Amino acid sequence: MTRIGVIGAGAASAAAVFQLATSGVDAEVTVLEKSGGLCGRAATRRHEALTYDYGANYVKSADDRVVDLLTERLDDEGLVDASEPIYTFDAEGDVSPGRDADDHKWSYEAGLTQIAKRLFGRTDATVHRRTRVETIGHDAEAETWSLVDTDGDRHGPFDVLLANPPAPQTAELLETAEWDSPARERLVDAASDVSYRTIWTAVLHYEFPLDVPYYGLVDTTKEHAVGWISREECKAGHVPDGESLLIVQANHEWSVEHYDDDPDENVDRLADHAADIVGDDRLRDPDWTDNQGWRYALPEDELPTAAREAAEEEGLWVLGDWVGGEARLHTALRNGLETGDRLADRL
Ligand SMILES: Cc1cc2nc3c(=O)[nH]c(=O)nc-3n(C[C@H](O)[C@H](O)[C@H](O)COP(=O)(O)OP(=O)(O)OC[C@H]3O[C@@H](n4cnc5c(N)ncnc54)[C@H](O)[C@@H]3O)c2cc1C
Repeated sequence: MTRIGVIGAGAASAAAVFQLATSGVDAEVTVLEKSGGLCGRAATRRHEALTYDYGANYVKSADDRVVDLLTERLDDEGLVDASEPIYTFDAEGDVSPGRDADDHKWSYEAGLTQIAKRLFGRTDATVHRRTRVETIGHDAEAETWSLVDTDGDRHGPFDVLLANPPAPQTAELLETAEWDSPARERLVDAASDVSYRTIWTAVLHYEFPLDVPYYGLVDTTKEHAVGWISREECKAGHVPDGESLLIVQANHEWSVEHYDDDPDENVDRLADHAADIVGDDRLRDPDWTDNQGWRYALPEDELPTAAREAAEEEGLWVLGDWVGGEARLHTALRNGLETGDRLADRL
């Protein structure tokens, strides 16, 4: 039996663990996740009758293998499609109809976090939530890995280690890892070179419906303080009838500048922007709000294959959107499936 340790319960590691389980590999899998929820940046929260995806908005049906995973291999009950179109706006906040895309924009009635829940749910993996890995250890003689969390608890030994955190967090863990190898230095350098866009998100609730023809609005000029606005009520099961829930994502520059500002002030500023763009003054005064800063929201570079392969030779496998080469949920899932395939072949 192969003992596998996994850092992070994001979409990529959930897909990899699922793929390993369904390929019949004899493995004992232990996942350590720092947060209280599953699926990382494809995150869902609940508040009273509201369910909302406050990180990734949806998974696009842009990859055949991921479509097959979500609609055939996994239970597709509760899969919902935000079928209204996405319109665009410009630096002045002027809205225009966008081009209709053919792709589905999927979430679940219970939110995107369902993806990781359903994937892990089909495996025997043990998932420890609220467990942040602080140190990676390597025993060169035994060729095994161990993990120490922030409570000082030790996990392992593992024959194989999977690392799913965004590139800067993976680089930080590897920087201090007790693993003396040129592959470690190469991977630290390559992961440190992956830059990220930051997103600050406001969630705005209103007790009235919005009469607009679109699901989402995107700033194609990248010059407005707001990059994206979408309506969670377009996803079945997320918002009670007659109410509205807006997800407002600030652009990178605004998000970096205001990251440490008072969150209430940030929410007020973004509500004002939303009112101006949508053209409805009532949006300045939401009756309930939430917010989240995503420092490492969207990777802009791809990890060079050689750096990944050198680490794999020694039993450490990195995976995620930054390894798959695109800041997209379907890319993270695809990368997880492919990592699971390669690891199953190796075992
Ligand atoms: C605001 C925002 C909007 C987005 N919108 C979209 C969209 O509409 N469509 C789309 O396709 N994509 C979107 N994305 C991108 C999408 O969310 C990601 O590409 C995808 O979720 C990445 O999955 P992953 O498995 O690679 O990594 P992650 O989801 O980042 O998973 C990594 C996991 O590792 C955990 N972790 C990190 N460090 C440690 C540690 N030390 N110990 C234990 N656990 C740790 C994290 O908590 C996390 O659960 C968006 C992202 C953000 C932030």
